[in-house]
Amino acid sequence: MSDDSDTSYCLIDATRPPKADGPPYAECVLCRKPTEYPESYKGITLCPVCEWQEAQRTACSG
Ligand SMILES: [Zn+2]
Repeated sequence: MSDDSDTSYCLIDATRPPKADGPPYAECVLCRKPTEYPESYKGITLCPVCEWQEAQRTACSG
């Protein structure tokens, strides 16, 4: 028994939401297509296409 198990969250890359093991998947907030994220994911979920487009947009801002 150990109370230090909370430190395991440090292994998770916070910049990437967890991918779902299977359906139901969350909908893309832009085009409503199914994403790779679990439906229970709290936050903005984008499909691979929209995610790429958003990345391009933010990269070229200015
Ligand atoms: Zn999309």
